Amino acid sequence: MSTIFEKIIAREIPADIIYEDDTVVAFLDIKPVHAGHALVVPKTPFTDIFTSDPKTLSHMMEVATTIGRRLKERLGADGVNLVMNNGAAAGQEVFHAHLHIIPRYEGDHAFTPPTHDPVTPEDITATAEKLRD
Ligand code: AMP
Repeated sequence: MSTIFEKIIAREIPADIIYEDDTVVAFLDIKPVHAGHALVVPKTPFTDIFTSDPKTLSHMMEVATTIGRRLKERLGADGVNLVMNNGAAAGQEVFHAHLHIIPRYEGDHAFTPPTHDPVTPEDITATAEKLRD
């Protein structure tokens, strides 16, 4: 089943496209955190980071850097968040891989502070052990 992003790539529905090449398209999010909030989307409909190929991911990052720079230079952003939600539990709503590029301003409080599990230093060390090869 094709996602809304495939329809944007195929020009079946409109979007405010700000960048396009053979591999990716970037357009503005319809519900921006701040004006200029953009999405970099691979033309191949990978579901998420785990099914995307590394070359495409690397190119998405390169394009995100270019757009992030424009957010700073042209919109006056003080900082830029790059966010990729992978899986419903991580907040992914459109199951076609994409990178959010979000302009940020000093004191904008756009994101509520993340919660933290109460862990001990020993817990952190035990978790590190599980994650090492
Ligand atoms: P995610 O939660 O990471 O899957 O984010 C999906 C994003 O796509 C949300 O921020 C939506 O506002 C955005 N979005 C959904 N439909 C469209 C659309 N037609 N044009 C632009 N952005 C969209």
